[in-house]
Amino acid sequence: MTRKLFHENVYLKEFTANILKIREKEGKYYLVLDQTAFYPEGGGQPHDLGWIGNCEVAYVFEENGQIYHVTHLPPEKPDHVKCRIDWNRRFDHMQQHLGQHLLSAAFEKLFDAKTVGFHLGTEYVTIDVTLEEMSPMQAEKVEYLANQFVMNNLQVKQLYPDAETLEKLPLRKPPKVKENIRIIEVDQVDYSPCGGTHPSQTGEVGLIKIRKWEKIRGITRVEFLCGNRALKDYHWKNHQINAISNLLSVKDMDVQSAVERICSENHSLKKDIRNLKEQFIDYEAAMLHGDAETLGPVKIIRKIFDQKDFAELRLLATKLVSQPNVVALLGTKDENKAQIIFSRSKDLEIPMHHLFKEISPMINGKGGGNPQIAQGGGNNLENLEKALETAYSMIAEQIS
Ligand SMILES: [Zn+2]
Repeated sequence: MTRKLFHENVYLKEFTANILKIREKEGKYYLVLDQTAFYPEGGGQPHDLGWIGNCEVAYVFEENGQIYHVTHLPPEKPDHVKCRIDWNRRFDHMQQHLGQHLLSAAFEKLFDAKTVGFHLGTEYVTIDVTLEEMSPMQAEKVEYLANQFVMNNLQVKQLYPDAETLEKLPLRKPPKVKENIRIIEVDQVDYSPCGGTHPSQTGEVGLIKIRKWEKIRGITRVEFLCGNRALKDYHWKNHQINAISNLLSVKDMDVQSAVERICSENHSLKKDIRNLKEQFIDYEAAMLHGDAETLGPVKIIRKIFDQKDFAELRLLATKLVSQPNVVALLGTKDENKAQIIFSRSKDLEIPMHHLFKEISPMINGKGGGNPQIAQGGGNNLENLEKALETAYSMIAEQIS
C-alpha cells in the first residue's frame, strides 16, 4: 500500500518517491509510488495535479487500496523521483473542503439540517442540506456562525479512534468505511469522518460566503465559496456595483432601488411608445385614405416608405383595408432589401396572392399569401417603384 503523505503532512508540496509499478493502457501510464502527496479523487474532493519527475500528472485515483497516478508520458527513471504537487490547486481544495465542514456544522447546529451531498467543482461548490426551504435570514445566520468558526481560528485535528472511543464521539454523520476510520475534529465543535485534506487551523479557510440556493426535490442546494474564491467573487461584484453606481450617479448602497426605478420607467415608456405608434398609424391610414387614387368605386393606395419596420407596414395595411373597397399596395426598402405587401378589403374579389406572384419577380422577391393579403421581399431595390406601378395597372385592367 502506498504511504499517504497527504495525511501525514497536508502541507507537503514536494517529495521524493520510488515508482513501484507502471501499467500502460491506451497511451496512458498508471504509476504506483511507494509514497505520495498526491490526493486521489474522493469524498467530494477532486484529485491533485502536478509532476512526477518529467511527467505531468493528469489524474489521480484510488482503487482497491492502490493509488494510481495517470500520466501521458513514461517516467525517465523509477527510483528517487522528485515529485511536486500543484499547491495552488490543492490549497484551494483545502479551503473549500474545510469550509464545507464548517458550513455543514453550522446548518446542523442551528437548524438540525443534515448535509447529504457535496460537490467541489472548478467553478461551483455546493452542499445539499435537508431543509425544505431556506429563508435569507436563515442563510445569513448559518453564514455568520460558519465564519465565527473561521475567525476563532480553531485547531483541526485528525483522529484514528478505536471502536470504544468512536462510540463516544458526537459524529455529524456515520463513517462510510469500517476500518481505519479517520475523524476530522474541529476543536470540539465538529466531528466528521473524512478522508480529504484540510488546513490545520480554521483561519486558513478565509471568508465563507453563501452565493445562492435553490430547492431541489424537497431539499436545498446551497452554493458557496471560501477563501481566495470568495475574494475573487467579491472583486468582480464590487467592480460591477461601483461601475453601475457610476453609470447611474447613485451611491453603491442605492443601486438596486435605482435600477428598479429605471426598469419601471422603461416599462411605462415602452407602453407609451406602443400607444403612440398605434395612434400614428391610425393617423397615417386616414391621410392615405384621403390621398387614395380611385378606380370607379375602388380606392387604391400606393406608397413606398423608406426603412419602415415591416410589422408596422403590415399593421398599416390591415388598418387601410378594414374599410370597404380598398386595395393597399405598400412597399418599403432599406440598403439591401425591398419588401412589399398587397392587401384588399374583404368585399373585393381581386386575388392578392396571384397578383403578388406576378409582380414579385420584378424585385427578385420571395414570399406569398392568400387571396386577401400577400407579402414578401427581394434584393432588386431599383424596381420597387416599377413593381407597384405594374400592380396598379393590373388591378386597373381587372376592375375595368
Ligand atoms: Zn473533509
